[in-house]
Amino acid sequence: MIDAMERVAEPLRDAHGRAITDLRVSVTDRCNFRCQYCMPADGLPWLERSELLDFEEIARLVRILAGLGVGDLRLSGGEPLVRRDFPRLVAMLAEIKQLNEIALTTNGYLLERDAAALVGAGLKRVNVSIDSLARDRFFAITRRDALAQVLRGLEAIAAFEQVRPIKVNAVAMRDFTEQEVFGFCEFARSSPHGIQVRFIEFMPLDADHAWQPEAVLSGAELIAIITERYELVEREREPHATARVFGFADGVGEIGFINPVSEPFCSDCNRLRLTAEGKLRTCLFSIHETDLREPLRSGADDPELVEIIRAAVWRKELKHRVGEPGFRPPPRSMSAIGG
Ligand code: SAM
Ligand code: SF4
Repeated sequence: MIDAMERVAEPLRDAHGRAITDLRVSVTDRCNFRCQYCMPADGLPWLERSELLDFEEIARLVRILAGLGVGDLRLSGGEPLVRRDFPRLVAMLAEIKQLNEIALTTNGYLLERDAAALVGAGLKRVNVSIDSLARDRFFAITRRDALAQVLRGLEAIAAFEQVRPIKVNAVAMRDFTEQEVFGFCEFARSSPHGIQVRFIEFMPLDADHAWQPEAVLSGAELIAIITERYELVEREREPHATARVFGFADGVGEIGFINPVSEPFCSDCNRLRLTAEGKLRTCLFSIHETDLREPLRSGADDPELVEIIRAAVWRKELKHRVGEPGFRPPPRSMSAIGG
């Protein structure tokens, strides 16, 4: 018979045989931006503070998951840097020995303020979301006149050489991103910090439910635009990588394409998500979630939490159904899931 400790140490696997090794934790549902493809202009009804997992609760769940082989951790939101004292959470998580490097996804607005504290806390990898390099178009998407502030934040974090890689993510939307493509190519090619720019296909996770299949500017379409001017050379795909990465043929700069709509990567998916109020999600598009906060707060011990997590992971969705007849978008938008 397998005893409790051995059972705790068995790696996490779903019913389709996929090993789960990657966790995204949303630390808040709040945000200081209102990106068109994510949040409504007036924001959303925010969670009460008492509804959020506190830092000790987050650290406990991450420690348990790390013990089950979930070594890759990314902190996200909402906007993670609006969570009070966020660098203290990074420092707490950095003490978990089984974790690989801690990564952050941010809109960059508060990065100039927090870069040094985050690096001091042990942050190692950062993605900054920037959809346009033109001030007015950045404003149109985010509803904030904040491009200069975000670029200062990016510079502030890039100044720390121990934080690498640094990536810029742009959501690719038809009739918008076409005009950004060459600007981003130049941005990647001229970056002294080797910043990789990645285009993410627009997914039906916007709070306004305005997503239409026609609004997705696919990775293939972007590549077609870029190759009018540049020759690209595809890099070998790393296991579980969500992006197809290309170098420019002259060796200067790198660009990536995350194509969840046109080229789903579900068969290889190794990912779990934890929302700010402690719901475990096994797919970005999950309709069902597993509450971990209630058992946490009613005194469940680690083996009990492990059993709840294992049962949820076992039921991980085979694939998302975006683009198929009858597809139902999840009730939560991207900001409330944790991108
Ligand atoms: N606020 C942070 C930020 O914007 O980087 C972290 C949270 S945000 C939800 C994480 C990522 O999801 C961002 O890169 C954002 O552009 C992306 N995102 C949000 N809504 C999306 C959508 N409907 N389709 C594709 N990507 C989306
Ligand atoms: Fe905020 Fe990020 Fe959503 Fe934009 S994408 S509204 S920055 S959570």
